[in-house]
Amino acid sequence: LLSLEGATVRFGGRAALDAVDLAVAEHEIVCVLGPSGSGKSTLLRAVAGLQAVDAGRVLLDGRDQARVPAHRRGVGLMFQDHQLFPQRDVAGNVAFGLRMRGAGREEQAERVRELLEMVGLPDAGRRGVGTLSGGEQQRVALARALAPRPRLLMLDEPLGQLDRTLRERLVVELRDLFGRLGTTVLAVTHDQGEAFALADRVVVMRDGRVAQSGSPLEVWQRPADAFVARFLGFEN
Ligand code: ATP
Ligand code: MG
Repeated sequence: LLSLEGATVRFGGRAALDAVDLAVAEHEIVCVLGPSGSGKSTLLRAVAGLQAVDAGRVLLDGRDQARVPAHRRGVGLMFQDHQLFPQRDVAGNVAFGLRMRGAGREEQAERVRELLEMVGLPDAGRRGVGTLSGGEQQRVALARALAPRPRLLMLDEPLGQLDRTLRERLVVELRDLFGRLGTTVLAVTHDQGEAFALADRVVVMRDGRVAQSGSPLEVWQRPADAFVARFLGFEN
């Protein structure tokens, strides 16, 4: 579904993405791990079309996306700083992508109800987003990203502000939901436990490059190098 070939993004002299090769198959759930500044968000932005690549290619279904604007790529992106629309209520935020697609009122209402239920905010539909806590806003942003059921969904720290109980519940529900919908997912997370629970494949980044890509078990049992081992918390 998605492939990057030598994708490179430079800021000033420095490569935030450095000749990255990566392929994501249809229905695959890939989690990207790596230290702060290793290029995880830049990777997602390049795929979404919010960041042009300076070299290399981003392909969706084998087609080069260089000239395809973000809104025509058919991918969903939930940002790390999940900006909600402050002038709309919770339901209005979740329904946004559905409305853009021309979904009817019934369908919108039904889907919004379903998603708010799933993220644990069944009664929040009419609330203003300004009245929500940070973690509640994050859950609304997640519901908004899921609503249009994009075939490639990219999530940047989707559960970052949530407490552990809620994260653990949502990881299980998300995995189930992605499986049912056949959604392909590329998700960034700081939390190894989350990545290993959610992912079919884990990608570890370092300085704009892919340090390792493999199944959670592979990466856990056979870290590619000392960096990956240290990052995963092994002593040596
Ligand atoms: P974090 O875990 O902290 O979110 P990250 O892995 O997502 O980090 P990126 O946001 O992709 O890291 O940034 C990679 C590098 O590129 C960093 O050094 C960052 O400072 C730099 N960078 C990202 N965006 C820009 C920009 N618009 N202008 C200049 N430098 C940038
Ligand atoms: Mg980031």
